[in-house]
Amino acid sequence: MSETRPGGAPELPLEERILEGLDPEQREVATTLRGPVCVLAGAGTGKTRAITHRIAYGIATGVYTPQKVLALTFTARAANEMRNRLRGLGASGVQTRTFHAAALRQLQYFWPQAVGGPLPGLVEHKARLITEAAQNMRLSTDRAAVRDLAAEIEWAKVSMLTPDTYPARAAGRDMPLGYDVRTVQRLYQSYEELKTDRHLIDFEDVLLLTVAVLEEDERVAATVREQYRHFVVDEYQDVSPLQQRLLDRWLGGRDDVCVVGDASQTIYSFTGATSRHLLEFPRRHENARVIELVRDYRSTPQVVETANRLLAARRPAPGSTPGSWATPLRLVAQRPDGPRPSWNEYPDDEAEAAGTAARIRDLLDDGVRAAEIAVLFRTNGQSQAFEAALAEAGIGFQLRGTERFFNRPEVKQAVVQLRTAARAAGAAEDTPRLVRDILSSLGYSDRAPRSTGAVRERWESLASLVSLADRMAEDAAARGEEFGLPALAAELERRVAQQDAPVLEGVTLASLHSAKGLEWDAVFLVGLSEGLMPIGFAETADEVDEERRLLYVGITRAREHLVLSWTLSRTPGGRPNRRPSRFLEALRAPEEAAAGGRRRAVRGGPAPRSGPARGGTSRPGAGGARAGQPRAPGRS
Ligand code: ATP
Ligand code: MG
Repeated sequence: MSETRPGGAPELPLEERILEGLDPEQREVATTLRGPVCVLAGAGTGKTRAITHRIAYGIATGVYTPQKVLALTFTARAANEMRNRLRGLGASGVQTRTFHAAALRQLQYFWPQAVGGPLPGLVEHKARLITEAAQNMRLSTDRAAVRDLAAEIEWAKVSMLTPDTYPARAAGRDMPLGYDVRTVQRLYQSYEELKTDRHLIDFEDVLLLTVAVLEEDERVAATVREQYRHFVVDEYQDVSPLQQRLLDRWLGGRDDVCVVGDASQTIYSFTGATSRHLLEFPRRHENARVIELVRDYRSTPQVVETANRLLAARRPAPGSTPGSWATPLRLVAQRPDGPRPSWNEYPDDEAEAAGTAARIRDLLDDGVRAAEIAVLFRTNGQSQAFEAALAEAGIGFQLRGTERFFNRPEVKQAVVQLRTAARAAGAAEDTPRLVRDILSSLGYSDRAPRSTGAVRERWESLASLVSLADRMAEDAAARGEEFGLPALAAELERRVAQQDAPVLEGVTLASLHSAKGLEWDAVFLVGLSEGLMPIGFAETADEVDEERRLLYVGITRAREHLVLSWTLSRTPGGRPNRRPSRFLEALRAPEEAAAGGRRRAVRGGPAPRSGPARGGTSRPGAGGARAGQPRAPGRS
């Protein structure tokens, strides 16, 4: 029983406070600290919340040692998010990483003893080596072909196929450029040889080599298993066979593993990921505790209904892989009503970007924070138009999120300069001004540059350091304390050590793929036309299904405002040969769909100031405009 001091609030012990604010099922997840646990649940039902609370609860009750917990996820953004949530629960020191980052760290550490010499260099992009391999084979390739070949090699590697075992499994797959399997096999072989000759390893090798070291070196395996006792995997629906193998090696037969996922959010099948591991988890682990969550805490009923409709409209097409999509869970909204989603048709991409910037301005004027707004697109190539429109409208944005913030060159330079200046300075009268002066030599100015790309990104990084200084100065003033550069330098040192990036105050521009697991108050889903959503190269039933799931992920990122838009033509004055996405029809509320093509104002949210050309008037229909298709999947 907790003690109550006279006149004071009852002091709950930490572990009780951690469990507060969880519903009964989430509590079950959080308190089942041992043995295999599997959480199957839809978007926004609190999976990530349940596992972060579970880790915090394990630590608070002394069952877990923070350093022995390895929390895995799939994007650097998501890892960052989880780390922040854990810190908020008082659970620091837990390793929160992507599979890739965790493997790379281990490989760097163990390589000298397990293999000898320094770890080979990392291939950032396969394109150069693939082009070279193709030239050696006298194959003519263009950029698109090289990209498709890289994707095929990646698929082979995460499926753990070598050039020798590849052909048997590749039979029946669509080959890039219509090459035969033999040719792709030889190219794969040649790529691998070039890599070895140059003493390089690629992204997939990092995982493959970690698996190999763990399988072949008992001492390394024992050390790693001693280090990590408890495993948690978020977004488990997107685990690849290679990542699964690595997880199995880390576990080494133990079963303290908790996986959470949503089969309806599998969006990396094209890289070999499969929800099979999630769905089969209970069978693989007979003693697994399986917990389902259905309450959606993230989004308004309007957003949840839209998401439910998208999944409900899905019909297994002839030729789709059986069981590739488990029966979708129907989400049950918990939040109060919000605005209806808004539908916007624009004549061209430029108008869409300008209209989106105008609506974002309205939201900002209504008090929505920039960091709580995201524009999500299918391919990274779509970003540029929105960058330009936001810059034009004087609205700050961030492209890369906060991952590896402290590794950015401009941030490294800034930290060095601030540290040097701090050594010379005492408490200053106007530290924020001093910070601005110091950072101006690196490209900071009080006004955001109107440019896009690298210049803008550099400015955004420096601006976030400036606002960190501003916040610290305010806090110090509120406490009646002085604030000087040494305090800022100390804070930066702590943040560098913990990779604790300052919040970037700007609208997020991101691909749908990199947005999973995240949430914003307002989400703009742009470019919802055939050829972009679904992407033009999605042809088979399975591929179109994956596009639908991707859109589902996009819709379920929104807490309150959901804005959907599409364009009729790519360029101003261009031929209006684009059709709205085939997925849109099913998304509209029945009463809206019945209103059909009648002209209506955009509903919900503020009236657009310089709104869409034909706001909400068009009737989305199926169609197949295939012109101007971007080909690159928006992979983060
Ligand atoms: P996704 O599938 O998109 O990854 P998720 O299942 O991981 O979603 P979370 O991100 O954990 O969902 O939770 C969604 C939102 O709902 C978060 O803002 C979270 O804090 C909130 N939330 C979750 N559970 C509760 C609860 N029991 N009470 C109040 N808020 C909650
Ligand atoms: Mg999540």
